[in-house]
Amino acid sequence: MYRTHTCGELRICNVGQKVTLAGWVQKVRSLGGMTFADLRDRYGITQLLLDSPGDLGREYVIQVTGQVVERQSKNPRIPTGDIEIKVDTLKILNKASVPPFTIEEESDGGEDLRAKYRYLDLRRPPLQRALALRHRIGQEVRNYLDAQGFMEIETPYLIKSTPEGARDFVVPSRMNKGQFYALPQSPQTFKQLLMVAGYDRYFQIVRCFRDEDLRADRQPEFTQIDCEMSFVEQEDVLNTFEGMMRTLFKNVLGVDIPNPLPRMSWYDAMDGYGSDKPDIRFGMTIHEITDLVQGFGFGVFDGSQYVGAIAVPGGAEYTRKQIDELTEWVKRPQVGAKGLVYIRLNADGSVKSSVDKFYSPEQLAKVAQRCGAEKGDIVLALCGPKRKTQTQLGVLRLEMGNRLGLRNPGVFAPLWIVDFPLLEWDDETQRFYAMHHPFTAPKPEHEKWFYSDSKEDLEKVCANAYDFVLNGTELGGGSIRIHDADMQSRMFQVLGISKEDAQLKFGFIINAFKYGAPPHGGLAFGFDRVCALFGGQETIRDYIAFPKNNQGRDVMIDSPSEIDPVQLEELQIDIRKE
Ligand code: ASP
Repeated sequence: MYRTHTCGELRICNVGQKVTLAGWVQKVRSLGGMTFADLRDRYGITQLLLDSPGDLGREYVIQVTGQVVERQSKNPRIPTGDIEIKVDTLKILNKASVPPFTIEEESDGGEDLRAKYRYLDLRRPPLQRALALRHRIGQEVRNYLDAQGFMEIETPYLIKSTPEGARDFVVPSRMNKGQFYALPQSPQTFKQLLMVAGYDRYFQIVRCFRDEDLRADRQPEFTQIDCEMSFVEQEDVLNTFEGMMRTLFKNVLGVDIPNPLPRMSWYDAMDGYGSDKPDIRFGMTIHEITDLVQGFGFGVFDGSQYVGAIAVPGGAEYTRKQIDELTEWVKRPQVGAKGLVYIRLNADGSVKSSVDKFYSPEQLAKVAQRCGAEKGDIVLALCGPKRKTQTQLGVLRLEMGNRLGLRNPGVFAPLWIVDFPLLEWDDETQRFYAMHHPFTAPKPEHEKWFYSDSKEDLEKVCANAYDFVLNGTELGGGSIRIHDADMQSRMFQVLGISKEDAQLKFGFIINAFKYGAPPHGGLAFGFDRVCALFGGQETIRDYIAFPKNNQGRDVMIDSPSEIDPVQLEELQIDIRKE
């Protein structure tokens, strides 16, 4: 038997017992003629009391047998801190090279180095806690969905290109020369085909692949909790998955989330928060003030489609310098505003603004009142095209929320965003794109516009689509699907996909819909992101055992990499040298 206990298990009540432990040597230190070593495994650390240091090195794998004794100086910071093992026999199971960084709660290794030796970094407690949390959440998801009658069904990874916005990763086929598989961006079409096949409650914790330019918190392969249900309306889907999230919050974090969860239309989210994933942990909402500020000779406002503002609590105290800094901040390309107008509501009731020349104190007070500003606050206004300006105000709002410490990761404010527009017009390519994906159904009451040829009508169509948003992050989203072959064809037509092209790319699903497709809908949650937010972290990387870096590389196995000429030959692929 290699061990009788783990390194996180022994307590004062075990004193006197003879035990055998196995693990990694974290640290050896000699003190007043005695030698102490910390023995680590994924359950914790136990202190060993040795006769001599011998030739023990860091990260040696050892097995010790000895007696549990009460410690002279206790360590209240670790659960095993009351005891130590007085070692009788020590066996080195394997030696270890000196690790390139310290393997402790905090490491001295930089990110790149730790990524190269990910298996060593994974020995550190923060990463072990992250993976344990991921495991727990996964188990809770399975338990909940199983109890609700969902079946876990796998779908293939080698599939055919499906357009869902991003670029596909492709895999050349050796047996079918010149042809390629695509890796799924999501199992979207397969889960819909499972509905046609009668498996009316499906789920899968599944890898998805998207060849996107990597932004800060994206991975080329990531995991979804992917679900689909038949014979449901939007209400049924929302209730089922609100239940799942409520169970996760309760069982994993011990947190009660509101019941029912708030719901906000996409339009209200954009108008009030400048984002389709509003952080509702704090107020400071956006207010349109166009009607209050136009017609007074201030050309910048007069010439704008939209003027909006937020009221920042306590902002009246900002110095000239702070306001200049904020003005520069909103002009950065990441925000993109042209300038910033402020109205300061001084504590004595007076009003001071950067546009005093154009507006009376009463007019400015009206603006402040619209924004919900009080004495001591500052109103910050931006102008321009409506949605663009709202988005900029949304970014500014989050920044001010950060600066004021209003975005506490320990506070959870989930909600549903509903009533998305079905289609998004793109000026550059002069065509509509599906806001969610091309399988999303229009709201039944908007179908009349869906079949209209006017752009204005089509822009009005709302989708039966929904997103689950937590603290300013979209954690999941889905929709009620089209299940009628003719309506699906109409969708492709609206998206400017020719009949031939639609048949070529989506013939399988259009055909399937001709054989009795039930009404259905579903959604997918970003599993990595759920884990990160539950862990109170911003980035998903620590919640993935073997993630890629910002360049999409796995620096540990050095991938992607060139392949053998023989492999290329077999695939009949020539690499063009630049
Ligand atoms: N397949 C969709 C996605 O990956 C989610 C869904 O509609 O179920 O975003």
